[in-house]
Amino acid sequence: MTGLAAVLARRIAATGPITIADYMTECLLHPEHGYYTTRDPFGSSGDFITAPEISQMFGELTGLCLAQAWLDQGAPPHFTLAELGPGRGTLMADILRATNAVPGFHHAAHIHLVEASRALRDVQRARLSGFDVTWHDTTGDLPDAPLFLVANEFFDALPIRQFIRDEGDWRERQIGLQDGRLCFGLSAAAPLHMLAHRLADTKPGDLIEHCAQAGPIIAEVSDRIAAHGGAALIIDYGDWRSLGDTLQAVAQHAPADPLDAPGMADLTAHVDFEALAMASTDVSYSRLTTQGVFLERLGITQRAQVLASKLGGSARATHLAAHRRLTHPDEMGTLFKILGLSPKDAPPPPGLEN
Ligand code: SAH
Repeated sequence: MTGLAAVLARRIAATGPITIADYMTECLLHPEHGYYTTRDPFGSSGDFITAPEISQMFGELTGLCLAQAWLDQGAPPHFTLAELGPGRGTLMADILRATNAVPGFHHAAHIHLVEASRALRDVQRARLSGFDVTWHDTTGDLPDAPLFLVANEFFDALPIRQFIRDEGDWRERQIGLQDGRLCFGLSAAAPLHMLAHRLADTKPGDLIEHCAQAGPIIAEVSDRIAAHGGAALIIDYGDWRSLGDTLQAVAQHAPADPLDAPGMADLTAHVDFEALAMASTDVSYSRLTTQGVFLERLGITQRAQVLASKLGGSARATHLAAHRRLTHPDEMGTLFKILGLSPKDAPPPPGLEN
């Protein structure tokens, strides 16, 4: 064993099995071997491709949605334009290009990015050159000001723990060692106060996932929106309430075994949007809306037609395929969903309803 697998095997041999959350944290963010800390995994030549990398239309419409929410709230003269987990910076670049046409928006915006990976911060810095950008390690460091925020495929990268119901108790799925190799195992059964509410809708044998970091991040975001105004668009794959094992590894655009080659594959889990909504305080949360419906409501078809009229040949075909990929139910259209947060006395962000 080499690299991170060897580091983890030594740790487990010394101190016992680790949680899936510990494993995800090490695999994604280990300073020397972590997936995000050591590489730029995005785009058609990387391991996977995200919505902003598929088409500029995604960021344009997201940006105009945030700008309209800003106008709807009286266009505050100073606000935080924030993104959580900005990847290559493509989404923010497209947001800024599209909102250049909105009078006063750029002048009022202070751009803040929450990004754990130093390698990706460098990519974002290059992509957003010409803009004044502040980076943060955590959402808690965002300024106390009106907050207009987007997070695309950020929450799915946060570490989750998995629990299997055993009558009134829970066993945690853990990672241990067998014959020197990493393997899944189960802890002893124990009651868990934080999962008491899930006894009503699960039966023995069911597996549920819990993301400890998501709630506090949503609380930080909603505190600012409640106090100063703003809006948040949380975009990710997942559903209302977690049920079942959704931990998945992807390397070079193909599914991989999550325990094979730690640090070399992306690890994600579906987002439990109900848990995010429940963690929001003193704000309104929108109905969970599919990405296809959200983008259609914001006018992606009209925008796609305008762009298509300027393209020919393979560029046109690629563009039409990207439109379909973002919106079609068989592609990202229904798997990906949007949860919006907005002040109680403001309308929901365009494209969403409360
Ligand atoms: N939003 C981008 C990238 C999504 S991938 C896109 O749509 O293309 C997840 C991003 O979140 C990466 O930029 C990764 O480095 C960052 N990230 C993952 N865990 C994080 C954490 N705990 N804190 C801050 N950033 C994190």
